Amino acid sequence: AYVVAEPCIKCKYTDCVEVCPVNCFYEGANFLVIHPDECIDCGACEPVCPTKAIFPETELPSEWSEYKKLNTDYASKW
Ligand code: SF4
Repeated sequence: AYVVAEPCIKCKYTDCVEVCPVNCFYEGANFLVIHPDECIDCGACEPVCPTKAIFPETELPSEWSEYKKLNTDYASKW
């Protein structure tokens, strides 16, 4: 699955939500998250993110590694 990381915080754009074919973006605390079980790995969201906050989980920068769990936890609340 793809993962939303720290650069998303306080971003006001929702280009990612608009291009996602399965609507798997959800609201986290102050950033958006991707539901790991619903994401189909299409990759459409990554290039349209204005803050470059979205990564395939295998390419998530190590300083943001905790965001994998944060995406799962916040997405599960919905
Ligand atoms: Fe949605 Fe595709 Fe991005 Fe997954 S990779 S969150 S399915 S747009």
